[in-house]
Amino acid sequence: MLAILFPTFCPLCTKKIEHARWTALCDDCWGSLTPFTGPCCASCGIPIAAETHAEASEPRCGFCRIEAYDFDLARSYGLYSAPLRDAILHLKFRRRERWGFWLGELLFPLWQSLAPQMGDPPWVLIPVPLHFTRERERGFNQAELLARGLRQRLRKARLPGLPQLEVGCLRRRRATPPQSGLDHRARMENVRRAFEVCRSEGIRGRSVILVDDVMTTGATASACARALKRAGAMKVIVLTLARATPQFPDHNEPRLLTGNIQAEDNDF
Ligand SMILES: [Zn+2]
Ligand SMILES: [Zn+2]
Repeated sequence: MLAILFPTFCPLCTKKIEHARWTALCDDCWGSLTPFTGPCCASCGIPIAAETHAEASEPRCGFCRIEAYDFDLARSYGLYSAPLRDAILHLKFRRRERWGFWLGELLFPLWQSLAPQMGDPPWVLIPVPLHFTRERERGFNQAELLARGLRQRLRKARLPGLPQLEVGCLRRRRATPPQSGLDHRARMENVRRAFEVCRSEGIRGRSVILVDDVMTTGATASACARALKRAGAMKVIVLTLARATPQFPDHNEPRLLTGNIQAEDNDF
């Protein structure tokens, strides 16, 4: 009855929703938030297009064959392209905070697949921090919502070693200039000293699982990992919802979103 009187529409495809579901998306859109399952760099997780690299048991991308990130391992749930990208943009710019929790639950299978490499508990879950001016502007940190969603899912699964969520111990010292337009090396330099740990008690000797919404070059994650390791973290494993990849450019314009939103780059 309510559905007839007050029809709801899927925020991503604008189709009328027949069956209400807790995620607020239509079945088609929710079903299309699929994980990336192709070959990827064993270290930073970037999809590797060439099959020859994928044939090696531990394929490495061009960057990881020459240099090393400060994190030990990074993996993303899916590719930063529609519809996952649109869902992330809605979360961030349409202030759909609730989405953060259910998108965070998508990280659960990733968690399970990486568990053997995470070392022994206790584990610490740390969201990549925003600079406080940006967080104040937005009203929330999307990475923190994702981490909370993941933790909620882990709690439901009742697996041993529920990670501690540490918010506020890793801090973004300065608002770094936008990363867009910078090459890999310049991005690394841009954020190298942008993070600091202000409380190391919860980190020392532990494996840290760093959570963020999008990873592009990995410069931000690497700078966070560097600060965390200096504070005594044993391992830093990065889990992100989406990986932006130059090899798989997405030519679809984000739907429903306009203006400077598209210029947003997660690495700042
Ligand atoms: Zn839809
Ligand atoms: Zn790599």
